[in-house]
Amino acid sequence: MSTKPKVGFYWCASCGGCEESFVDVAEAILDLAQLVEFAIFPVAMDFKRQDVEALDDGEIFATMINGAIRTSEQEEMCHLLRRKSQVIIAYGSCAYSGGIPALANLVSKEALMKYVYEDAPTVVNPDHARPQTETLDQGRMATLPEIREMVRSLDQVIEVDYSIPGCAPNPKLVLAALQTLLSGERPPKGAVLAPNVALCANCPRIDTKPRELSVKAFKRPHLHEVDPDTCLLAQGFLCMGPATRSGCGEACIRGNMPCTGCYGPVDGILDQGAKILTSLASLVEAHDEAGIDHAMEAIVDPVGSFYRYGMAKSLLRRKIDLPTPVAR
Ligand code: SF4
Ligand code: SF4
Repeated sequence: MSTKPKVGFYWCASCGGCEESFVDVAEAILDLAQLVEFAIFPVAMDFKRQDVEALDDGEIFATMINGAIRTSEQEEMCHLLRRKSQVIIAYGSCAYSGGIPALANLVSKEALMKYVYEDAPTVVNPDHARPQTETLDQGRMATLPEIREMVRSLDQVIEVDYSIPGCAPNPKLVLAALQTLLSGERPPKGAVLAPNVALCANCPRIDTKPRELSVKAFKRPHLHEVDPDTCLLAQGFLCMGPATRSGCGEACIRGNMPCTGCYGPVDGILDQGAKILTSLASLVEAHDEAGIDHAMEAIVDPVGSFYRYGMAKSLLRRKIDLPTPVAR
């Protein structure tokens, strides 16, 4: 029987890119496989829930869980993995702060289901059928997980020891995190295992970012030529670098695209969207309301721009449908 520490990967509501990113460490994964035994790893190996249930509590050394939490099955798996693991790491933006799936919190579950199963242009569903959690089919009961009212981050469901943000995370961060933990070192509980500085600090364009910056009108990158050497914010593109944690290797900036904020905020920032909004508001060069409207009109989806990855952990968290007032 192997005496190597067991490591797990699991995914919930996500695109799968986080686990793919880990596979991207390429041959380094073979070095890691010398040190650990995988206990669950959906993208690469065939484990079943029963395999995890058969383990002793705490038998897994560390489990990286990616994806937001929306269904009853995801909740059950997260509670199970919490019980079986000494360390739980929220891996990637969706587990860390809700990510793209949490933008669904902008509509109620009922509105979401109605659109997907009834109103979307490609749907043909004359009976308005919806998925059921239990269906008797030829004498056998078929079950489906229940979809919860809202999307949550992992720490809103189970206790999380550490987080590694990113969409997807830089695999070097998870390798470094595992090496640190395997060496016996334990960062302070709750730590985000990525540098605690804003992306601008490591940006190759930082020398072209003026100390006094003003923007007359924001621009959308697909509609304008982007200078590959100059600060994107100085060019008028919405770059979330000032309000985003470093650690990705400035991937988008080096690809000549503005940062959209996937590493979340640095420590101490409660709400990344509010932080970038206040920074941008102070940059806008406008003297009246029309000037402000003109400056902001290229930001066509403010919530999707400022809260693209962090809706579940934001102060807004979700939209609530209030009952229509009754006319008297
Ligand atoms: S605003 Fe964006 S482009 Fe400019 S220095 Fe910061 S991260 Fe780099
Ligand atoms: S530049 Fe910004 S959006 Fe792009 S990977 Fe880095 S943190 Fe994420």
